[in-house]
Amino acid sequence: MNWLWAVLVSLGVVQISNVCTTIYLHRCLAHKGLDLHPAVRFLMRVHLWVFTGMSPREWVAVHRKHHHFADEEGDPHSPRLRGLWPILLGNAMYYGREARNPETITKYAPDVVQDGFDRMLFDRGLLGLGISLSLFCAIFGLWLGGLAFLFQAGTYIFLSGVINGVCHTIGYRNYSNGATNLRSVAYLTAGEGLHNNHHQFPSSAKFSMRPGEHDPAWIIIRALGAIGLAQPQRLPAEISQ
Ligand SMILES: [Zn+2]
Ligand SMILES: [Zn+2]
Repeated sequence: MNWLWAVLVSLGVVQISNVCTTIYLHRCLAHKGLDLHPAVRFLMRVHLWVFTGMSPREWVAVHRKHHHFADEEGDPHSPRLRGLWPILLGNAMYYGREARNPETITKYAPDVVQDGFDRMLFDRGLLGLGISLSLFCAIFGLWLGGLAFLFQAGTYIFLSGVINGVCHTIGYRNYSNGATNLRSVAYLTAGEGLHNNHHQFPSSAKFSMRPGEHDPAWIIIRALGAIGLAQPQRLPAEISQ
């Protein structure tokens, strides 16, 4: 039953990656809707480095550019410009192309400065991925560990493609912007599937707006807030006033 454990551990890692992405990269760093305790920031940064290899500075820059152009020429990953399937399956390529553009980084993420940890570790994405690959292989053996590593990386990348592709194409809209909400995707992506709400109130720390909508990350943010590790900066009611 080793393979079953490998699947469960991989899916657990993907969920933690989704939580770190939406809470740290997205709501805190990119949109400043949330303040996090430095220890929480650091732990999430380490997790994302090891299991996704992504640079927070690059993620923030590409994402802010996406909001700036949202489904118009210049949007790094719009399904309206490129088609749904290319974004769904090629999201990592579109992301990587924009992340390698130094102008994008300078223009859209001037506030995310490179520190000593970045220079030593976090800007070395392949080193991070090498650590997670080694961890999987140490736990499950060479072949199953390698497959589990690929499975969790592929699932994370695919879910990002679902948000950027499907959540700009299929689903319902509470507000008149190009993005859509999908409750099922929200459960799988720690709330990111409520993408129409997010495009309407980008700096809100909470993504659920209407009855029946659930934002799993908001529960975690409230729990962190209760012990002094998170402080929401803005909520939809405050933004629309
Ligand atoms: Zn979007
Ligand atoms: Zn956003």
